[in-house]
Amino acid sequence: MGLNCGIIGLPNVGKSTIFNALTAAGAEAANYPFCTIEPNTGIVAVPDERIERLAKAANSIKVVPAAMEFVDIAGLVKGASEGAGLGNQFLGHIRAVDALVHVVRCFEDGNIVHVDGTVSPVRDVEVIETELLLSDLSSVEKRIDRVARAAKSGDKELKAELAALEAARDSLNKGIPVRAIKDSEHDFRALDLLTAKPILYVGNVAEDDVAMQPTEDAPGHLGELVRYANTHGSEVVVISGRVESEISALDPSERGEFLESIGLQESGLARLARAGYKLLNLITFFTVGPKETHAWTCATGDNAVDAAGKIHTDFAKGFIRAEVISYQDYVQYGGEQGAKEKGVLRVEGKQYLMQDGDIVHFRFNV
Ligand code: GDP
Repeated sequence: MGLNCGIIGLPNVGKSTIFNALTAAGAEAANYPFCTIEPNTGIVAVPDERIERLAKAANSIKVVPAAMEFVDIAGLVKGASEGAGLGNQFLGHIRAVDALVHVVRCFEDGNIVHVDGTVSPVRDVEVIETELLLSDLSSVEKRIDRVARAAKSGDKELKAELAALEAARDSLNKGIPVRAIKDSEHDFRALDLLTAKPILYVGNVAEDDVAMQPTEDAPGHLGELVRYANTHGSEVVVISGRVESEISALDPSERGEFLESIGLQESGLARLARAGYKLLNLITFFTVGPKETHAWTCATGDNAVDAAGKIHTDFAKGFIRAEVISYQDYVQYGGEQGAKEKGVLRVEGKQYLMQDGDIVHFRFNV
């Protein structure tokens, strides 16, 4: 599996509930902090309405959607960067993921304990952000000491690393996460810091608020979270953990009607999977034939050889060419044959930059 999203948040905000609904895997969801000790991993299909249309046009027997990996990282608490709660262990799990989905409690429920007594989304977000900032700051300071000594030799790469570390330290000291630093001079990616990871927020709302839109004027806790996220350039996905557990327990054939009855077009988890995909800068290409229609994932900026390698290393090794039809053309001309007749099938070489929705045949020779 390629890239993944780690689900983080304070204890008892609904992470496991959402993760369980996402994967229908068995992570325990109990009204008890630290109930999910080991990180759990689940693979979730990324909903994409294009895939059914392609399968229909090609009479495919089987359909394979693209997948997103989510990791449930439980129990970050205040003081984690100094080892509180399960402290450093959790920070290590966060280091291992590519992007962060931060679940924030936006529902009031007197029966569910909040670790800080009251529901307050921005305070909660800042508790976690602070732990990540402190953890980055401490690792940057340690590295500055080490690299500064080694950079005395005059090595160019070490000097550049030292400059990036110092710039990161200065921002972190001002409370600015690495992802928000406006500075094209230094390469922060190589530093592998927690606050450099792209992030989106899940507003876990009450059952009655499930159809609320994530706008700045949304009432109550949700509006507060959206205003915070917008000022920090992040997106909010509205989900009700309780409702999602109900949806995932239903037979797929009953889900549409249920969603409609609560004012939703699709489940919150479907929106989350898509938002995670976007956060990671991923795009989809398809292989389409009578056997199957298969959605594959590659990164924005991947070329044809990179994409071929997602299917099989042999495809990349023995790459000859890619025969590409855009999704629009494929649908407009009723499939591959029609597209060929219209002359819109393109023959592309190794350097071709993949576009979202491309339908591809890779020609290869090994
Ligand atoms: P975690 O510690 O963040 O993983 O939180 P859990 O998923 O274990 O949830 C903590 C408690 O909050 C459980 O009792 C859940 O049933 C409850 N909970 C989760 N989502 C919702 C929701 O949308 N509404 C309400 N009322 N309770 C929820």
